[in-house]
Amino acid sequence: MFMEHVSIIGAGTMGNGIAHVFALNGFKVALIDVNQTQLDKALATIAKNLDRQVAKGIITEEKKMGTLQNIITHTGIEKGVQEAALVVEAATENIAIKLQLFQQLDTFVPANAILASNTSSISITKIASVTKRPGKVIGMHFMNPVPVMKLVEIINGYDTHPDVSNTIIALSTQLGKTPCVVNDYPGFIANRILMPMINEAIYSLYEGVADVEAIDTIMKLGMAHPMGPLQLADFIGLDVCLSILEVLHKGLGNPKYAPCPLLINMVTAGKLGVKSGEGFYVYTATAGNKDLVVSNH
Ligand code: NAD
Repeated sequence: MFMEHVSIIGAGTMGNGIAHVFALNGFKVALIDVNQTQLDKALATIAKNLDRQVAKGIITEEKKMGTLQNIITHTGIEKGVQEAALVVEAATENIAIKLQLFQQLDTFVPANAILASNTSSISITKIASVTKRPGKVIGMHFMNPVPVMKLVEIINGYDTHPDVSNTIIALSTQLGKTPCVVNDYPGFIANRILMPMINEAIYSLYEGVADVEAIDTIMKLGMAHPMGPLQLADFIGLDVCLSILEVLHKGLGNPKYAPCPLLINMVTAGKLGVKSGEGFYVYTATAGNKDLVVSNH
């Protein structure tokens, strides 16, 4: 299937990275968010990340300019999806938002287009059920940061058509990614395994077994993880982690997935990690990984 136009819904942590990768690979990208500030921030982030790729010799200055020219932004869905052969939804991890979005997308997106969700954990079958094209709905779960991470977890919903799955597999490869196909059960594979580890790290902190730095250092140096679970949680977004744990807890019905009360408290207090400036660590515009400061959680 030839694709030229791709629409990305949501210009947050993931949406800007997904737009970056599609635009870099020559697609015409419409990046859509309800919030103009998020769109402005996303374009600035994409430009900064492209600059980094130029500085490392991965792309040329011309390629950077071409990539930026491939991206347009919209604050409304209708105008931004009319030409789309594929929509990748990367809006807030909230089932009500996603169901409403897919109902709207089904109305405005051309009938033969594929609707993909970047959801971390929400059922693709459920999302597909609010559309009139469940065979054309699929999970396309990129990893953060999208321009760097190779994996795309592809989730086949109950009704996803094999041709659609094959198209998304081929497309992911075209984007320079490695696709991995899984079935539609809560948390899929990536988060079913990752989130219990992050939750256990937060429980270990909550119960006073060790402090933030000790927990992260043990997992980094002891398990050869590139970053500790608490830093990773900050990077993902503590609200996103909480939403995923709630889906696992409810969907699998096992108390082992219950989110730690400390995580719930931190999200309630607006400590969402990197994106809010504070989570388990404090983030400033200039702070890199080497000068992480532990917050007063
Ligand atoms: P985020 O909070 O950084 O950004 C979400 C964006 O969606 C915001 O800019 C918000 O304004 C926008 N939005 C909300 N409702 C909208 C609507 N109706 N129409 C258009 N835009 C809307 O969230 P994120 O971390 O980028 O996560 C986005 C999706 O990607 C979620 O489903 C999440 O589970 C998934 N995901 C996140 C990560 C991660 O590490 N953060 C990794 C993989 C997948």
